[in-house]
Amino acid sequence: MEKVLLKNIENPNSHEINEYEKIGGYRSIRKALEMQPKKIIEEVKKSGLKGRGGAGFPTGMKWAFASADPKFPKYLLCNADEGEPGTFKDRPILEKNPHLLIEGMVISGYALGAQYGYIYLRGEYPDAKDILNRAIKQAYNKNYLGDNILGRGIKFHLVVHQGAGAYICGEETALIESLEGKRGQPRIKPPFPVNVGAWAMPTIVNNVETLSNIPFIIEVGSDAYSKIGSPECPGPKIYCISGHVERPGVYELPMGTRLRDLIYTHAGGIKGGRKLKAVIPGGISTPVLPPDAIDCAMDFVAMSKAGSMLGSGAVIVMDESVCMVKVCYRALKFFEHESCGKCTPCRDGTGWLRKILGRIEQGEGVDGDIELLLDVSNNILGKTFCPLGDGAASVVISMVKHFRSEFEEHIKNAKCKIQN
Ligand code: SF4
Repeated sequence: MEKVLLKNIENPNSHEINEYEKIGGYRSIRKALEMQPKKIIEEVKKSGLKGRGGAGFPTGMKWAFASADPKFPKYLLCNADEGEPGTFKDRPILEKNPHLLIEGMVISGYALGAQYGYIYLRGEYPDAKDILNRAIKQAYNKNYLGDNILGRGIKFHLVVHQGAGAYICGEETALIESLEGKRGQPRIKPPFPVNVGAWAMPTIVNNVETLSNIPFIIEVGSDAYSKIGSPECPGPKIYCISGHVERPGVYELPMGTRLRDLIYTHAGGIKGGRKLKAVIPGGISTPVLPPDAIDCAMDFVAMSKAGSMLGSGAVIVMDESVCMVKVCYRALKFFEHESCGKCTPCRDGTGWLRKILGRIEQGEGVDGDIELLLDVSNNILGKTFCPLGDGAASVVISMVKHFRSEFEEHIKNAKCKIQN
């Protein structure tokens, strides 16, 4: 597949506007401005594009809800708060192909009737901030942003807003709270941001990768776009692979590429020829999979049938030297630390899970600890405001499901068989 999202990024000047224009950049804006906003939304709907931030909601449908709301102003927010451990797929777009994102946002803003856009950027990406700000300035100078874009009377302004490093601000309503200058905690839904979002106005929150697909959809049309990838989840997809593989990194491939091919063909297989033990397929909050589950397509539908989630498409590969109890403990330390504290099952539950896992890992586990882990997890699952609680619980449940004997051995032998 020819690269769409990571096209030209080997070029050291790929972030410069002239280089982007040379490879056909900003042509889609001209084409989009010839179209009626409704027609653009229709094309995005027909393309089958699903949100690349993790939830996989159909982008065109989300846009249609916001566009039908008569309230103005409307806002377009780009979620660039890439804080999920194992996830670094948006970074190359932000740092090497920022004009693709800007072009996608201008077209999206026009389609939605939004005149103001924000890129909510992960605080830990200082280089991306400078690169984006420079790219935005270049786009203003060339009249792709401003009060009268390309002399067509269309207005769209864009700014970068840097987060302060809280993982929960990647959740769309917490992102909105933070953008408004408040403490970044999720809001209860409904109402959904498409109707009551930033400053109580209709707001679309889309991920970097989602918005970066828009220029290509406009360029080739929804029919051609939907032929890429899997039928239920079309389009290109950026996967990032980390852990025990020969070639960790970022790969743009058709959506639905098999997990096995990703690990063994693209990432070169398991490092040092060792045996695969486990894969977390979509960032730390997605359920772990055993080696016999890797013959499935990496898309939203197939991964859910396989018992996990595509999430952000961040594949974490672990070989036979890894202690799964330790992985689970580390994950829960993260969730406990990042829990915003708004709801009791998550705030207290992640702490309890971390404590139980800590004592099992230290060889101080007692009979009944595994049942207790499952009991606490089931009392978090489905009972929290936002998906952080569910993510923490399902990591524990899946680890126990696939690697129960390791937890049992830790408790029985009072130590780790693998790492001792
Ligand atoms: S699930 Fe956790 S992170 Fe989400 S709102 Fe509740 S306490 Fe906050």
